[in-house]
Amino acid sequence: MLSESPTLAMSARAKELKAQGKAVLDFSAGEPDFRPPAAVTAAVTEYLQTKPVHYAPVPGMPALRDAAAAEFARYHGRAVTRGEVLVSCGAKHSLANLFMVTLSPGDEVVIPAPYWVSYADMVRLGDGVPVIVPTRREDGWRLQPDALAAALTERTRFIILGNPTNPTGAGYPAGLLRQLGEVMARVAPQCWLLVDDIYRRLVYGGFEHVSAFATLADVTDQIVIADGVSKSYSMTGYRIGFLLAPANVVAAASRLQGHVTSGAATPSQIAALAALTDPSCEAAVQDMHAAFTRRREFMLAGLQALPGLDVVAPDGAFYLFCDVSRHLGPGTQFADDIAFATWLLEQKLIGSVPGTAFGAPGHLRLSYAAADETLRDGLQRLGEAFAALP
Ligand code: PLP
Repeated sequence: MLSESPTLAMSARAKELKAQGKAVLDFSAGEPDFRPPAAVTAAVTEYLQTKPVHYAPVPGMPALRDAAAAEFARYHGRAVTRGEVLVSCGAKHSLANLFMVTLSPGDEVVIPAPYWVSYADMVRLGDGVPVIVPTRREDGWRLQPDALAAALTERTRFIILGNPTNPTGAGYPAGLLRQLGEVMARVAPQCWLLVDDIYRRLVYGGFEHVSAFATLADVTDQIVIADGVSKSYSMTGYRIGFLLAPANVVAAASRLQGHVTSGAATPSQIAALAALTDPSCEAAVQDMHAAFTRRREFMLAGLQALPGLDVVAPDGAFYLFCDVSRHLGPGTQFADDIAFATWLLEQKLIGSVPGTAFGAPGHLRLSYAAADETLRDGLQRLGEAFAALP
């Protein structure tokens, strides 16, 4: 049976408490709090006022596929055709499509933990087998070559790397990515690398995001990329994601989505097209990035000062993954991270997501995609909550 997305469940409960009039400070959400760039809203508004809203072509409007292909080509430094790009209802849908059309029963997919909540369930949806490979705090939560080598078999179909990763924010520098690519080519040459680049524009502190294609020149025909506009353009609700994959995979995924969604919503595609092509959007993206940079510094410093909480400075995304294991287990008030997160929400009105949801018990994920005042008040409230613990 599929599990409910735990991050969405925590967000829903926080919203429920808010609706009851409780002053919840919510750090559970995985979405920016900004409005999308003004040109996005203007484009979709004009479209709705002047055009009938019909079905779009199943794989995406040609103009949007071309714009996404141009952006992929620019970033990855290689020619990308329209046929290699599929527009779907969010990167989540891109990934689900991919697993459904590429996995055969029993195919294995390597997923480093802590992992984004949906990967394993999506792999199961495609009749695949998630192979969870733990990463370590001392390795910055990055998958290491020896751990990868030990996890690969002749049944491995994909290795998933979030670059940067949700929930830890860990990114893959070129050197490590190259090592992982070498292991893949040597131990499991049939395997493909799936890079989830949804947070690639949200990196900080000198971390340099690198293109998997540019870094792994020897295996470029075995790389698939998921990307989209949700996070960097603050367009989560528009639900537009992109898959960059060989044309035959895109064609198969398109056939699938033709039967399941008939493609992504037309107004959303118009909005995404504006995001990718209107030159004014770049400044808006930079402004949001600057805000996230500031918030990350503020939250990181504040959390590092809390007693019994350990957090690694993340390379990217907008999460802080905190080890709270000192406050859990025998002799403490809480059996586990779920009990701790539930207490924080129900008693202290602070929304977070327990690490168990990401395959890493003993942790909490706090999102700093929240207004500055919320972060300030939340840090103070967290300080009081932690100070009250033995
Ligand atoms: N990949 C990761 C790692 C994410 O955290 C998310 C969203 O939370 C997605 C993909 C999906 O993004 P989208 O909103 O485009 O479906």
